[in-house]
Amino acid sequence: MLSIAENIEKVRQNIKTACERSGRNYEDVTILGVTKTVGVDDIMCAVNEGICDLGENRVQEFMEKYDKIPGVKWHIIGHLQTNKVKYIIGKTKLIHSVDTLKLAEEIERLSKKQNVTTDILLEVNISGEESKSGMSEGEILPILEKIEEFSSVKVRGFMTMAPKFASEDEIRQIFRKLYKIFVDISRKKYNNISMDYLSMGMSSDYTVAAEEGANIVRIGSKIFKE
Ligand SMILES: *Cc1c(COP(=O)(O)O)cnc(C)c1O
Repeated sequence: MLSIAENIEKVRQNIKTACERSGRNYEDVTILGVTKTVGVDDIMCAVNEGICDLGENRVQEFMEKYDKIPGVKWHIIGHLQTNKVKYIIGKTKLIHSVDTLKLAEEIERLSKKQNVTTDILLEVNISGEESKSGMSEGEILPILEKIEEFSSVKVRGFMTMAPKFASEDEIRQIFRKLYKIFVDISRKKYNNISMDYLSMGMSSDYTVAAEEGANIVRIGSKIFKE
């Protein structure tokens, strides 16, 4: 078994190679360490290797770890229920999994109340696979137009998850499509919306995502479970 440090080194090398292949700058890709079900000691190993962006997909687990691991940037990446928003406001660098207007409105309401601005990504379900969360492509613009009027939420980009059983080529097409939407919207001028982050790719497909323009890759098992 490789150590966590060796796993991280391998992931970094693979991202470097993917960036070279696609003419991208390696420094532009942030590795988000996905720490669900991972204990604090193992997480600290990754932090000591320079992984300072961490992602949790459940609020309960996030809250348990938040105080124990200071000095890192926390991301919420899993499906978020509106009644859990109150626990995370003011504690996150980025919420990746905003998939409905209702959720964005609740983040707006509670951020305003606490006098903070919350950065979010819209989660988009490009493949249309029903088991996946995320808004459809057609919902993006109407939701962006509503969020333009918000005062305490900023959309900073998009997140997507590729379907589990798709081929590499299908996954590539999905990432490519979201990259194109990301670029198209970045050329338009909206209030409260700037296309800074494109969160795509997990352990099984992060090299494809890096080739197709992701600047955040979310990696759990390839760092902590190999
Ligand atoms: C678990 C999870 C990941 C990481 O998955 P791995 O395959 O372990 O790298 C990435 N994104 C989301 C939304 C997740 O829930």
